[in-house]
Amino acid sequence: MISTNKEINVPFVDLHAQYLELKDEIDNVIKKVIKSSSFIRGDYVLKFEEDFSRYLGIKNCISCANGTDALYIAMKALGVKSGDEVIVPAHSWISTSETVTQAGGKVIFCDTKKDTFNIDPSKIEEKITSKTVGIIPVHLCGKPAEIKSIIKIAKENNIWILEDCAQAHGAMYHDQKVGTFGDAATFSFYPGKNLGAMGDAGAIVTNNDFLATKMAMFARHGGLKKGEHLIEGINSRLDGLQAAILSVKLPKLEEWNLRRQKNAEKYNELLFSNENLILPFSSKNSEDVWHLYMIKTDHRDELIEKLNSHNIKTGLNYPVSLPFLEAYKNYNHSPKDFPNAFYNQSRILSLPMYPHLTDMQINHVVSILKELQNK
Ligand SMILES: *Cc1c(COP(=O)(O)O)cnc(C)c1O
Repeated sequence: MISTNKEINVPFVDLHAQYLELKDEIDNVIKKVIKSSSFIRGDYVLKFEEDFSRYLGIKNCISCANGTDALYIAMKALGVKSGDEVIVPAHSWISTSETVTQAGGKVIFCDTKKDTFNIDPSKIEEKITSKTVGIIPVHLCGKPAEIKSIIKIAKENNIWILEDCAQAHGAMYHDQKVGTFGDAATFSFYPGKNLGAMGDAGAIVTNNDFLATKMAMFARHGGLKKGEHLIEGINSRLDGLQAAILSVKLPKLEEWNLRRQKNAEKYNELLFSNENLILPFSSKNSEDVWHLYMIKTDHRDELIEKLNSHNIKTGLNYPVSLPFLEAYKNYNHSPKDFPNAFYNQSRILSLPMYPHLTDMQINHVVSILKELQNK
């Protein structure tokens, strides 16, 4: 179909542009994996686990099938059992909460902050009971949660911290990479994430060798050697092709994050917050990797339609906060239990954000947003 619209297209993410930047290397490595038949485990998987732990400066990386499995495996290794309560931010992707239940625990939601979308440290303590075993801070949108305050609360209450870093590869809090603060951290390499495979992939990282062994064991049918099954586990593995592709992309992550930061700065420069449109919060002590550039507006439906009619695609991350999902209706939560998450869910809108976004594309998005701002 020939487009009669001369306007610029702005997809929500552009994975093809990312592929083209590394086409030769990716095509080559795929051929190599096929030639060596290293499809499951093998050298490419080991290499990526080493590459990723070196990148983060952490002792152990246990690869697995996806970011959801990573959370589940981590909690099985942390020993979550029936009756245990785990605190989870009200605003996240469902993986963060559903895996608590799968591991055998009970999800306890905590409200998020109105401006950062991350868990509100001032509301954590009131959620802690004698049954609380851990907390899962999510670094949503690539913006670090207030992890130092969370560590203080966790230490005082003797509970573990599992960081959900699915949206925050390379983000820093007080000059330290997220994923290195908690007892363990999980990553997703879903294609659209800041570091993405060409299919599903995930990993858990930890400095705790004992936990690392338990995680690897659980993810590999309960044993680390062929024929060994010390416990019942699951099958969750990163395959050789994805691992090889991730090792090719990893050296580009810092540059791509920088390009995301530049793009966010450009949006910030060209737009301003007013009553029709609120720009994302800019953090002082942290380095945001802008997985998402999420604005807030009271005119969301109208704006989505307008942007859409100008070939600009947007996202909703996420339109219903976790406590209000059908899946949790048995909790009987009401908006007043999580006022900020509830307030935000109907106003948030994710604008196009990826490293290969061009100035022309940003200007196009901005020109439409300005019409709303100046209304
Ligand atoms: C993407 C994501 C996950 C899950 O990752 P998958 O690889 O898709 O299973 C978990 N938590 C958050 C916050 C995510 O954004």
